[in-house]
Amino acid sequence: MPMTPFVTRFPELGARETRALRVTGRKELPDGDYGFLELYCDEPGCDCRRVMIDVLREDTEDKIWATLNYGWENVEFYRQWGRCSSDREARAMKGPVLDPLNPQTQYSQVLLERFRILLQSPDYVQRLIHHYQMFRTAVEKEQLERNIGKQHRNVQQSLRHSRYYRKP
Ligand SMILES: [Zn+2]
Repeated sequence: MPMTPFVTRFPELGARETRALRVTGRKELPDGDYGFLELYCDEPGCDCRRVMIDVLREDTEDKIWATLNYGWENVEFYRQWGRCSSDREARAMKGPVLDPLNPQTQYSQVLLERFRILLQSPDYVQRLIHHYQMFRTAVEKEQLERNIGKQHRNVQQSLRHSRYYRKP
């Protein structure tokens, strides 16, 4: 499941609708603007219904302050989905949790708590779901076009090899 930033497919909307958090004068987090960059799954035919969040700051460039996982469906959905080998894995798909494989910092836990608070807003959850659907539609459309292109080439090839074909 390759996770790709929403902004790579939808740069304008992504820039406008990425949640940001301004922090000033807190002892648990350095001052700054934290962006919650969304990444969605790029695999054709997959329906994993989740988001990965990279917490970034413009002034620290590529540094990832935390990597979070969140799925908006219930745990049962991820259990049924069939790619989770255990109950624990299904729960980790649902989250929100810190991603075990991707970068974290000493501030990850605090940022996860902030993310939990953001998720209490139904608007934010709806926005994530909507972004996921847009992203997935684009992935499937691309795949379809690729397949049609392939079929088209196959047809041309078999025509070329058939005895009905005459060189122009
Ligand atoms: Zn997926």
